[in-house]
Amino acid sequence: MNVTVKKSVTIRKISDLRDNHMTLGLFCLECNRWGEIVPNEWLSSGKRDVDYINQKFKCGECGGQADKQVRPQPIDFSQGAMVAEVPTEN
Ligand SMILES: [Zn+2]
Repeated sequence: MNVTVKKSVTIRKISDLRDNHMTLGLFCLECNRWGEIVPNEWLSSGKRDVDYINQKFKCGECGGQADKQVRPQPIDFSQGAMVAEVPTEN
């Protein structure tokens, strides 16, 4: 018998996104532009595995708070990419 058990996954951290092949999209309302966090790049560049739900990512252009959206697909950056600032530890 070959049964695939679907585990319920809780995606809270950057590594959870990576494990589920997702990226974290960031949208700035002020600039009307998307940014993106690619979990593999984030983690391999030595950044800590943040609980992204509690992070307030900032737009690198205007400093506004970026809206978060988990994305199963890469973002279409044809409108121009926003540069999201990495949250820093307090
Ligand atoms: Zn902005």
